[in-house]
Amino acid sequence: MAEKNGSVKSRNRLVIVHILSAVLTIAALALCFFLYQQSLPLKEENETLLKELEAREAALAETDAKMDEISDTLAYYTGMKDNLESTKKEYFDIISDLEQKILNGESDVKIAYLTFDDGPYYLSTKFLDVLDEYDVPATFFYLMKCAETGFEDQDADYDAIYRRIIASGHTLGNHTSIHKFGPTGVYSSVDAFKKSVIDNKNFIYERYGYTTNVFRFPGGSDTARSKSYVQDMIDYLVSEGYGYVDWNAATGDGGKVVLSAAEYRDNVLTATGGKNILVVLMHDYSNNTLACLPEIIEGLDRQGYIFLPMFNGSVMCKKQ
Ligand SMILES: [Zn+2]
Repeated sequence: MAEKNGSVKSRNRLVIVHILSAVLTIAALALCFFLYQQSLPLKEENETLLKELEAREAALAETDAKMDEISDTLAYYTGMKDNLESTKKEYFDIISDLEQKILNGESDVKIAYLTFDDGPYYLSTKFLDVLDEYDVPATFFYLMKCAETGFEDQDADYDAIYRRIIASGHTLGNHTSIHKFGPTGVYSSVDAFKKSVIDNKNFIYERYGYTTNVFRFPGGSDTARSKSYVQDMIDYLVSEGYGYVDWNAATGDGGKVVLSAAEYRDNVLTATGGKNILVVLMHDYSNNTLACLPEIIEGLDRQGYIFLPMFNGSVMCKKQ
């Protein structure tokens, strides 16, 4: 009996042990399941963050590639611009040598610099057409005119005229921004003069990316010389990198009296005596000058002149 009791006890103990171990196993499983469930959102969050990180890395790589592409393009255009500048410099150096040979009597070549002041005007396009037709370069001493300033408000696309001048290999010169005389005019003080020069310089550079270093005084340098501070104005021009150009022949189209096209033509063609380097003053607002421009070009050509654009290194471009 005692033996039977003992075996029952030990069986009961065994059952308890089994039950306990089953309970513990279930509890452990439940705990694992609970922990697993708790970890699921964290896992999802990590995966989302990982994907975001990968996407950002890809976007950065793409941006880097684009930046490389942009800097390559910039380098290409900077190189092109440098080449253009050096070609332009070589071109002007050749003209400079030619001028020296002419002055030394070593060359029979004669140079004519055709210059047009006070534009742009609505007629300027027609002047450019004539120059294109004869394949002749010229120089335009322009005022700061554009649609926004409302200055000389004509039905003309001034931007297109400026761009065409630059693209065609003509020279664009600074003729101040106001071209007005009197108490509030361009020569009323050194500061007024400086402002009108720099305003025009900035206008041409900021709007057309073009640096001009040739200047013409409104009315010519003789008009500026009527001021006691003319040297201050010249010094300022030189400090800004400019040379200034007057003229030794003119149509006469800038005066109050309008002459005929034939008279304008003759004024130029008879002013050439003894001048191997000619600077012709004209205005591209004059219908009569437009009418005789072909005859002026043909007449000068017959007299042996070649046509070139004015540049800072020319002997005709003064620095003092
Ligand atoms: Zn002028």
